[in-house]
Amino acid sequence: MRYDMIVIGSGPSGRRAAIQAAKLGRSVLVVENRLRVGGVSVHTGTIPSKTLRETVLNLSGWRERGFYGLAYRVKKDIEGKDLGARLAKTLDYEIDVLEHQFARNGVQTAAGAARFLDPHRIEVAQSNGETPEFAADKIVIAVGTKPYRPAHIPFDDHSVVDSDSLVAETRVPRSLAVVGAGVIGLEYATIFSALDVPVTIIEPRTNFLEFIDREIIEEFIHDLRKRGVNFRLGCKLERVDRDGQGWPIAILDDQRRIRSEMLLYAAGRVGATADLGLENAGLSTDARGRLAVDAATFQTSVPHIYAAGDVIGFPSLASTSMEQGRIAACHAFGAPLMPAPKFFPYGIYAVPEISTVGLTEEQVRAQQIPYEVGVARFRETSRGHIMGLESGMMKMLFALDDQRLLGVHIVGEGATELIHIGQAVLNLRGTLEYFVQNTFNYPTLAEAYKIAALDAFNRMPAVCQAAPSEILSDRLTTPAE
Ligand SMILES: Cc1cc2nc3c(=O)[nH]c(=O)nc-3n(C[C@H](O)[C@H](O)[C@H](O)COP(=O)(O)OP(=O)(O)OC[C@H]3O[C@@H](n4cnc5c(N)ncnc54)[C@H](O)[C@@H]3O)c2cc1C
Repeated sequence: MRYDMIVIGSGPSGRRAAIQAAKLGRSVLVVENRLRVGGVSVHTGTIPSKTLRETVLNLSGWRERGFYGLAYRVKKDIEGKDLGARLAKTLDYEIDVLEHQFARNGVQTAAGAARFLDPHRIEVAQSNGETPEFAADKIVIAVGTKPYRPAHIPFDDHSVVDSDSLVAETRVPRSLAVVGAGVIGLEYATIFSALDVPVTIIEPRTNFLEFIDREIIEEFIHDLRKRGVNFRLGCKLERVDRDGQGWPIAILDDQRRIRSEMLLYAAGRVGATADLGLENAGLSTDARGRLAVDAATFQTSVPHIYAAGDVIGFPSLASTSMEQGRIAACHAFGAPLMPAPKFFPYGIYAVPEISTVGLTEEQVRAQQIPYEVGVARFRETSRGHIMGLESGMMKMLFALDDQRLLGVHIVGEGATELIHIGQAVLNLRGTLEYFVQNTFNYPTLAEAYKIAALDAFNRMPAVCQAAPSEILSDRLTTPAE
């Protein structure tokens, strides 16, 4: 019952921490309170939402409508069961892969809710009523988050849902109101809008996704408005009433009423720490149930207890959670660590998707870096024509003094894949010259990089245009570089 490491939670951060510790030859126990491993990511978050998105885009023929018209459908009446079928298959497969990964690496698992007894011991409340105890030298808290469910919202998990209940019972409502224009709210709003469901997005702030470049958001809003998505920005939800049919009516603070067959409440998440007995370990959380950690090592204020993933807050992505778990395990057992690159990409799997890496134009301005912008429209690429794309754009920012790439921002088909070219150049401290001099496969959407870079280059003053090859050739011929 004693291990080198106990990991509480089997989502992306817990899984990576456990596998990394096992690879370092340590004994590891993962405790998970769901029936099967995988965490929010596999059961209710990343994988289900992306599977629903893919299913909707395929069955609705969304990607082909540019050619065959708005009425084109691969399947005529798309129902909840169509969405559910692919979901079940994908999730089963993901869980299988994960269980196999744990078995292969000798990671043990215990089913039940973990609770600290003291800084090195936990008990696990099992479904049969037993509470076995386990101890470890190192503990990783990787319990993630839960949807925030305020008391005044009448959740029934059918017509008033959160992101968990939305995927538990897949159905296609006749209309949808989404409260919260965060990543989760926007993803589901646009997925259902692609099924021609009338959607209204309610958001108390006048702006949303503030970490994304504003021009990209403007393009995104333009696209959604064209499709008939309603935005109620700067409007607070006061309460939810019901009409005679039991449909929810969102009552806003400006007295507008939005009636829809389904209301998705997606306004925040809270750390799943309430029942962890953190006080017994000498730990406490902020008001949203989140733990503070050292940003480099992921140690909490109790040095042998680490925390990783959504429970530590921003950026709350599966991708970053995995890295945090791996780093925590390496640090715990003294394994060498390479420093994490400065920039990581964000992917927002709305329809259209958004992806971004590096500085936004607003950040570049705030830092007073002299810069130039280059833009490419996907319809300018041959690949875009072939695919029938009518929208989609890439925006690149370059420093004027040394032509270093500062940021890449994309909205449109393939954005979340395309971004990695920009990420590589950015983190390798590359310049505009990379894009101008290199040949890209043709026809590809990646050509947008070249178009946008040339656009920026052509706008630059002549004195700046001359600079990069000298800088680059200098770099290439200096071994120290
Ligand atoms: C709808 C939605 C869409 C998303 N889409 C994306 C995306 O496209 N890309 C992306 O990168 N990220 C996405 N995310 C975020 C991503 O899912 C999270 O960042 C990621 O799951 C966090 O991982 P984690 O390691 O913190 O653990 P989680 O995945 O949150 O899992 C934690 C696990 O710990 C368990 N647990 C909690 N308490 C205990 C306890 N006391 N004892 C035992 N077990 C416990 C929980 O039941 C859960 O299974 C999305 C999230 C949601 C909700």
